[in-house]
Amino acid sequence: MLYKRSSQLFAEASEVLPGGVNSPVRAFKSVGGTPIFVKEAKGAYLYDEDGNRLIDYINSWGPMLLGHAYEPVVTAVVEKAKKGTSFGMPTELETEIAKLAVSMVPGIEKIRFVNSGTEACMSAIRLARGFTNRDKIIKFAGCYHGHSDSFLIQAGSGAITFGAPNSPGVTQGTAKDTLLARYNDLDNVRSLFEANKNEIAAIIVEPVAGNMGCVPPQDGFLQGLRTLCDANGTLLIFDEVMTGFRLSKGGAQELFNVKADIVTFGKVIGGGLPVGAFAARNEIMNYLAPLGPVYQAGTLSGNPLAMAAGLAMLSDINKNEGLFDRLEQKTAYLEKGIREQLEKAGVVFTINRVGSMISVHFDATPVVDFDTAKNGDNETFKKFFHGLLQEGIYIAPSAYETWFITDALSYEDLDNTIAAVGKVAEKL
Ligand code: PMP
Repeated sequence: MLYKRSSQLFAEASEVLPGGVNSPVRAFKSVGGTPIFVKEAKGAYLYDEDGNRLIDYINSWGPMLLGHAYEPVVTAVVEKAKKGTSFGMPTELETEIAKLAVSMVPGIEKIRFVNSGTEACMSAIRLARGFTNRDKIIKFAGCYHGHSDSFLIQAGSGAITFGAPNSPGVTQGTAKDTLLARYNDLDNVRSLFEANKNEIAAIIVEPVAGNMGCVPPQDGFLQGLRTLCDANGTLLIFDEVMTGFRLSKGGAQELFNVKADIVTFGKVIGGGLPVGAFAARNEIMNYLAPLGPVYQAGTLSGNPLAMAAGLAMLSDINKNEGLFDRLEQKTAYLEKGIREQLEKAGVVFTINRVGSMISVHFDATPVVDFDTAKNGDNETFKKFFHGLLQEGIYIAPSAYETWFITDALSYEDLDNTIAAVGKVAEKL
């Protein structure tokens, strides 16, 4: 496949956008080569500026659970747009989507909409700090909660890809309030509680980590965090920006049967428009302005186009018979196929998967935390990535990302992908 026009567009973009992109991982820096410029997308496919068709395994990093240009979402946005694109005043639509989200997700009574996952997580910790009157938070190495200062400490995703998990510009003052723990290591969390008695406002965790590749929580890990939080008067925040409305209607809380105090959302909840949200029981949410003292606001928050897209998406997911079973079956089928092909070719690998989140690591050691995630062989990953791209298959341009499976994929797409993996694996 040729990427001539993408190369030209990238060169032009690089003159006026830092690195040619508006979000670092898009620049293909860790895999090399030229980022692909998309012209349009439909269902499971991307169509690029060179006329190539790619099967998409990233789906805008998660939101397109039901495929690109999903008709009910597109119609909802187009119809709303004709009636005005932003008011900065309340609309009935905001209540409708809020009611639906509250009915789908366990344990939440009120929800506030924002414009990104970053905002959702940033606001959630401010709320937790205000509510508990404590400053410190625990985050896990390799987890990513957006690019706000408190979280850019041993962050996963793009932050590791660029070798800067700790960003310049984050002050020591901010960094000292973020305590770091090892994912899947309850003893480590316990010792942080012992060393910081009555100081920890919240633990924030990706209930299935998706930003160091996919790393599932080990049995008892999430429940253990719940128990430790309860014993220490600390709030448990599930960052469900990836997992929310993807792993089940009620997200990871429902799947693992563990309740969080605050839940954050992004991606699927906006149906592809810029939406994030955070939610909790009344006691906590009533602490937020204008009811309570913790301030949080947004000119475009609850924007009618974004809410229309989100409502269309969540309504569909809510009544979409068998959706999560189908996603599980399709992704399990893909996993099995990839395993067989890589084994046949004698490639050393580990695959992690939860529902429709999956990633392939090129290392034999089980991947359970940030350290084991970093063991992956990046040179093999690069070859794998570019090999698949030549076969018309688009996976994330970084070894530290999860693939997001969409229901728009057919079994024929999956078979084609598995065959491509076989072809590429022979040359790894
Ligand atoms: N939390 C998680 C778990 C994420 O994966 C991401 C983004 N990939 C974010 C927060 C930040 O969301 P956004 O990029 O919308 O700001």
